[in-house]
Amino acid sequence: MSQANNGADLDASASGISSSGSKRKRSFVWDHFTKLDNAEKCVCDHCGRIYTCNSTCGTGHLWRHLDRCEGHKKGNVSQEALQTLNLGHTGVRIKVEELRDIHEVKDCLRKTKGMTDQLALTKATITRTQLVSAGDHVCLDLCSLMKHGEGLLVGTYSGGLFLVHSEHSESNPSASRPFRVHAGPVHAHIALPDGKTCYLSELQEGKDVMLVNQNGMRRTAMIGRIEIESQPLILVEAMTLEESNIHQKSMSIFLQNAGTVGFVTPHEENNPLKIVIPVTSLKVGDEVLVRLHSE
Ligand SMILES: [Zn+2]
Repeated sequence: MSQANNGADLDASASGISSSGSKRKRSFVWDHFTKLDNAEKCVCDHCGRIYTCNSTCGTGHLWRHLDRCEGHKKGNVSQEALQTLNLGHTGVRIKVEELRDIHEVKDCLRKTKGMTDQLALTKATITRTQLVSAGDHVCLDLCSLMKHGEGLLVGTYSGGLFLVHSEHSESNPSASRPFRVHAGPVHAHIALPDGKTCYLSELQEGKDVMLVNQNGMRRTAMIGRIEIESQPLILVEAMTLEESNIHQKSMSIFLQNAGTVGFVTPHEENNPLKIVIPVTSLKVGDEVLVRLHSE
């Protein structure tokens, strides 16, 4: 792959926002390595080799490894083969040597074929809403069009994530932006396709996020543009609807207080058209969909 050759350029182009508001760099190489211990060492996600990665040694040696890494190459071959499958071939035969290979192919299939498995979503009841002051709010534009009822899982804590709807509007098609989600402030957690979460401030253009619909069907989409602007926020708190109090769980989220921002609601047999509640008309007692996320 050419990623290693372009390492320096990619490093320079990848950016996030620091607490001071200035741009900081975060290398795309961290999509392939996981930091260990005190971030002094890291492990290659594809082959398990361990490298030094403290702040003084840069990422050049990690890019060089990625260029040679057999595990990474195998993953790329699987992905290319499966993407070709999308263009009209009827089958692909892939030779696997280890169990891990099968998992990599499964991940590639998930990325390539879109909709795959179903995620368990839970009903939660809104317990409080409060207008608060402005905060740095993250607006995500994806390289995919979302369907009505699809959104991203976001929350103040990673253990309880709300299904935040896209700016898809059936009632006002001219104002519809089905590629956009007003996701929340920089500190909020967002669910990723690999089952982990990250802060909204850590997202980068080119990174994948997980789209989920009202039925819990999920697929992967790539971020095309990120805009962070100061916006008036609303604090929303909710509680899950477990019969036993022991298992009740409370959760919260801050969102931009605008009519284009809303939550996906649970399916109701007697009101199948009610899919989204805008935050501007949210009331205590309304039901929304949440994901109880376990690390
Ligand atoms: Zn490796």
